[in-house]
Amino acid sequence: MPESRRVPFFDYPRLYTSQGKEMMGVMNELLSRGAFIMQKDLREFEESFAEFVGSKHAIGVGNCTDGLQLALMGCGIQRGDEVILPSHTFVATAGAVNAVGGVPVVVDSGADHMIDPSTIESAITDKTKFLMPVQLNGRVAEMDPIMKLAEKRGLTVVEDAAQGLGASYKGKKAGTFGKAAAFSFYPAKLLGCFGDGGAVVTDDDDVATNIRAMRDHGRNAEGRIAQWGINSRLDNLQAAILNHQMKAYPDTIEHRRKLAARYHAGLSDIAGLHLPPPPDSDPNHWDVFQNYEIESDRRDELKTYLADHGVGTLIQWNGQPVHSIKELGVRGEAPNTTRIFQRCLLLPMNQLLSEEDVDHVVAVIRELYGVA
Ligand SMILES: *Cc1c(COP(=O)(O)O)cnc(C)c1O
Repeated sequence: MPESRRVPFFDYPRLYTSQGKEMMGVMNELLSRGAFIMQKDLREFEESFAEFVGSKHAIGVGNCTDGLQLALMGCGIQRGDEVILPSHTFVATAGAVNAVGGVPVVVDSGADHMIDPSTIESAITDKTKFLMPVQLNGRVAEMDPIMKLAEKRGLTVVEDAAQGLGASYKGKKAGTFGKAAAFSFYPAKLLGCFGDGGAVVTDDDDVATNIRAMRDHGRNAEGRIAQWGINSRLDNLQAAILNHQMKAYPDTIEHRRKLAARYHAGLSDIAGLHLPPPPDSDPNHWDVFQNYEIESDRRDELKTYLADHGVGTLIQWNGQPVHSIKELGVRGEAPNTTRIFQRCLLLPMNQLLSEEDVDHVVAVIRELYGVA
């Protein structure tokens, strides 16, 4: 019998309480300065974030969904343009396309749950203008064939890198492949703030200037209204919190990779499970494990059994990949994604977990499968 232990899927209070004293200090200092909107803390965060990602510009925005909209607008999306994206993503990816007048079209995912490049070409029509790979679960998609296809067919690539901060493919980091990319700082994301937050990155000076103005009512660097815009600024308070989180981020990634390796060592001999590729198993991929998404032949039973033993799990997107949401009527086919969603489950994976927590989850799963 595994010992009794509670492993919540994500312990939201501990995001703060695990570093409450320092965070109080950061917030108190900033609030006492009255530095609420677009102050030096935001500029500092944008600089260090761009440097970490390896892009020329980073622009803090209200959340990743706004960031995707601003990225598409900044890259010149027109009403009716079709945008290809994987069905295995948050509805936000498709929703951002829809919100700026585009038409989302979904394609399938492969064995590693990333967009399957071989399903993209047949989804391209005369109206297709953008390709939006999703750097899912802390892994970068197979970007060589994707970029090659985009070039051949004249498509602009905008990455949904909400789950990809720090992950790389052939040494190149998520967010640096396309014309622009957006990241999320939702609390449970890799780099979480205390509310909503996001950033857009790009190497293109004109796209950056355009997005920088658009996120602040269309105001240019001199503060004059130069174009239409919206209000989607990253709060200065969140930027200061993120500046603080950023310092520990390399350790966060190392810790997540260590936990992933531990899950793999503990579960890889169970025949009914399909696991994510373990760290360092493929020299082309450096994964940061936003999530640990397994497949199980007894998924629903496993989810209940884990819950009964104090372990929180999640079926990603509440079990609704984009093509399955009938109310939205998004075009495209994704049979392998349908199969994945009969089997997939997110095990607890975050920087607040200990190796003992992972050992407990492993022991409960082994018990259900009846392996010693
Ligand atoms: C979380 C997430 C988003 C949305 O991010 P927000 O900051 O909450 O808007 C978009 N795409 C993916 C893949 C995500 O995981």
